[in-house]
Amino acid sequence: MSDQEPQEQQTTEQSADAPTRSSPPGGPRRSSGGSRGYPRGERRGRYVPRPKVCHFCVDKVKKIDYKQSDMLRRFLSDRGKIRPRRQTGTCARHQRHLALAIKRARHLALLPFVSSQAR
Ligand SMILES: [Zn+2]
Repeated sequence: MSDQEPQEQQTTEQSADAPTRSSPPGGPRRSSGGSRGYPRGERRGRYVPRPKVCHFCVDKVKKIDYKQSDMLRRFLSDRGKIRPRRQTGTCARHQRHLALAIKRARHLALLPFVSSQAR
């Protein structure tokens, strides 16, 4: 007796291009680090950040002249202190040169060490 079972070949044909994932290319991508967007139309007298550009890099200043006391005065606070980089937007290199120039100008009495209004 030859009872060979007819091996049923299961049709294991998987359709290769089954569109199971429904993620369109170029979806909403999140770029980290770019969270400096300004809220549009929503400023209620709060701090409004301005685009910070180094004043000296724009003018391509190599050496900051300590004799330009009027220009250096913009980088002093009302108390006569050197304003920090986060307020003025000056880059690190120019902030160093600026601080040196202000100190030289102070020594020559072109700039105040402290404001006259200080109590
Ligand atoms: Zn700079």
